[in-house]
Amino acid sequence: MTGTQFPDMAGKVVAITGASRGIGAAAARRFAEAGAYVALIARNRAATEEVANVINAEVGAEQAIPCVADVSVRGEVTAVIGEIVDKFGRLDVLIGNAGIIGPMSGIETADLGGFTETVATNFTGVFEGIQAAARVMIPQGGGTIITVSSGAAHRPLEGWAAYCSSKAGAYMLTRAADLEFRSRGIRVLGLSPGTVATDMQREIKTSGLGEIAQLDWSVHIPPEWPAEALVWMCGREADPWLGDDVSLREEDVRRKVGLIT
Ligand code: NDP
Repeated sequence: MTGTQFPDMAGKVVAITGASRGIGAAAARRFAEAGAYVALIARNRAATEEVANVINAEVGAEQAIPCVADVSVRGEVTAVIGEIVDKFGRLDVLIGNAGIIGPMSGIETADLGGFTETVATNFTGVFEGIQAAARVMIPQGGGTIITVSSGAAHRPLEGWAAYCSSKAGAYMLTRAADLEFRSRGIRVLGLSPGTVATDMQREIKTSGLGEIAQLDWSVHIPPEWPAEALVWMCGREADPWLGDDVSLREEDVRRKVGLIT
């Protein structure tokens, strides 16, 4: 891990959507270990409370708070960010991580309801999070907004039209938000993690559809890797990627984050 520059997260307020399991839960744990207060946002109250309790027991302080919100429902992200700011008085980092794979089927047979839910979660929910965070961060003088992106934002995958297009939209939001907010002190960037051993990847494997489902499970990285990257991305060493995605598939990035030597 020599040479890696991690930002000082002590006392910082971090909100993470999709933190009841997978990448979001691992990130919440890593930010708390780094000294941040972490608001864990997801739909499943019991699972989110459980993750927060485990983190608080590990760090020996009440640094993690569970919050319930469905990012696909208009107004819920804004409301929960309002509650977080009421409690802590500020918001330093938003990680827009909540996401679903959505319907895995060809376009001509795809269910329109599933398409709409995927867009509402992976795209509109991300937009609302960026908007709500920016409204707090601009008057407070700065902050970092990271969206968990995907390689699927940059290339189509057969049977994944809903996921790929919603993630491509979220990537454009990263670019647009950077354009609007960089001069006002807000750092906006995305993380494309590669394939990660989580429930989403299990769902893909179970479907048996498409090239990602055929991958051997051993190629997937653990959720602790993107978690490490997300903390690193809050620091100045990640500034060359502002307005763009950091790809954790790249060896150079893995080395910078301290995941490989
Ligand atoms: P998981 O399925 O393990 O976790 C998804 C998380 O998102 C859960 O905490 C879930 O909680 C939450 N979530 C889903 N829908 C909503 C919603 N409407 N409102 C609030 N929270 C929601 O997936 P991963 O950890 O793998 O994925 C996290 C992110 O990483 C996603 O954006 C995904 O697209 C991206 N990604 C993942 C890759 C992988 O290989 N795993 C590869 C590339 C990108 P709950 O059900 O309690 O609401």
